[in-house]
Amino acid sequence: MQTTASAPVAPIPTYTIDGDTAIYLGPAVLVSSKSEPGRWYSVQDGACHCKGYFYRGTCRHLSVAAKAVELDRASASTELSAAEVAAFSGPSLRALALAMEPAN
Ligand SMILES: [Zn+2]
Repeated sequence: MQTTASAPVAPIPTYTIDGDTAIYLGPAVLVSSKSEPGRWYSVQDGACHCKGYFYRGTCRHLSVAAKAVELDRASASTELSAAEVAAFSGPSLRALALAMEPAN
């Protein structure tokens, strides 16, 4: 797949989805155009600014943006559970050790 050099500044979440590049900006997601390299469409509130959406009311950028939002949520929840593991590993390991001790 595509490898991007990790920039030292501003960790803006960028995802490559089905060959498209999506940049997650929170309220809006920028999706790269396949037919016109260098052009970006912003998807916001389930609407896109491309011609396809204008004429058909739907377009592929919407699904790419939806996946980017999903991926962003997934990575955020991973960080959260990692923090939870760090916070709870001590007590829970102790509880596990106590539970495994034969209580006679
Ligand atoms: Zn579109």
